[in-house]
Amino acid sequence: MFDTLSDRLTAALQTLTRKGKLSDADIDATAREIRIALLEADVALGVVKTFIARIKERAKGAEVSQALNPAQQVIKIVNEELVGILGGETRRLNLAKTPPTVIMLAGLQGAGKTTLAGKLAMWLKKQGHAPMLVACDLQRPNAVTQLQVVGERAGVVTFAPEPGNGVGDPVDVARRAIAEAKHAQHDVVVVDTAGRLGVDEELMKQAADIRDAVNPDEVLFVVDAMIGQDAVTTAEAFRDGVGFSGVVLTKLDGDARGGAALSVREVTGQPILFASNGEKLEDFDTFHPDRMASRILGMGDVLTLIEQAEQAFDQKQAEKAAEKLSSGQLTLEDFLEQMLAVRKMGPIGNLLGMLPGAGQMKDQLAQVDDKHLDKLQAIIRGMTPAEREDPKMINGSRRLRIANGSGVTVREVNDLVNRFFEARKMMAQMAGRFGFGGGGGSKS
Ligand code: GDP
Repeated sequence: MFDTLSDRLTAALQTLTRKGKLSDADIDATAREIRIALLEADVALGVVKTFIARIKERAKGAEVSQALNPAQQVIKIVNEELVGILGGETRRLNLAKTPPTVIMLAGLQGAGKTTLAGKLAMWLKKQGHAPMLVACDLQRPNAVTQLQVVGERAGVVTFAPEPGNGVGDPVDVARRAIAEAKHAQHDVVVVDTAGRLGVDEELMKQAADIRDAVNPDEVLFVVDAMIGQDAVTTAEAFRDGVGFSGVVLTKLDGDARGGAALSVREVTGQPILFASNGEKLEDFDTFHPDRMASRILGMGDVLTLIEQAEQAFDQKQAEKAAEKLSSGQLTLEDFLEQMLAVRKMGPIGNLLGMLPGAGQMKDQLAQVDDKHLDKLQAIIRGMTPAEREDPKMINGSRRLRIANGSGVTVREVNDLVNRFFEARKMMAQMAGRFGFGGGGGSKS
């Protein structure tokens, strides 16, 4: 995500760090580099102009010339201004004082609305809400079924017109859904609407009619981040046709250049609330302008990483593993549990990408392959509980059985077992030295 932009911005700013005092010419040169980087990332021209003007003005001012480290100060300014165009403060979802809160999704076909409805529902459920999905996309064949499927996956109720009633009137469905939500005490209603491949009047009118019928607390404009500048034109059309109170960026996991993310807030004046970065229901999070800016500048996103870890790891389980680790009693079963917990946080490459400095380690990161982890998992799963508990019992014939059962070579099983023993020994020594873990590790 935003790799090229990130690389170019980091490079532009790094040139500065080699200098002590900064001249106006240095700042102009850096500003030029940043300008090119933003234009190449497909950021709207107006946004680029304002951004560069602000950077130049601030970088040539007193805050930089009087700073102990002028280059650092410029980086700080660029970071702050990036946070600014991404929206400043994190914008939370508006919840209605008297439930149900009504959230309407609008956007082009294929933007990811239906998928988002499921993601949002699951996210809301985790926050303790009782959401209901409403299928108002009666245009696209299968849209209703698709919504029902994501609803089921998210474990929430989907309100849909009964099959066989013709195409149906989405406005009527929306109205009945709100009544049903009140009746069944759903406190949040997420309304999925129809999209077209391009902006057209009929689409806008239908969305506006649904809006008038349900009087939403939030209208979220859902936009595919991969479409770059087109996102801005589409956003403007939806702003004028339906109006919206917030934006959701989808497909940030794809090869998005950053243009949509960096332009949409500034151009429409509406904040980005959520970001979607994958096809799975979990690939979704609140959008934090400050964290995104720091990712774009290659400064990592440690906060998100920590939050994801907190969700993925069970505290007790982790403590138990630490204890076993320090006493050299870690089993392959524990190892498997920990690996599964880490993997719940998302593809390994994504996780590592959030670490500071990850931008410069891209080649190594590309080699961290989820397939390799799949293989390790398959091998451990091919073992009996007794073997996982006491890997020492895994002799030659057992290795052959495990290899055959998990579709790998005996050598791969050997590698795993040997590396596990080595790692276990090393970790127990380290635990002893640093005194972590609660167990009986030798505290020399
Ligand atoms: P809708 O027409 O707006 O309802 O769009 P859909 O929800 O049907 O999504 C269109 C396609 O984009 C589907 O194949 C989704 O799986 C995919 N998709 C949605 N969100 C994301 C995302 O964040 N990342 C990726 N890679 N694919 C997504």
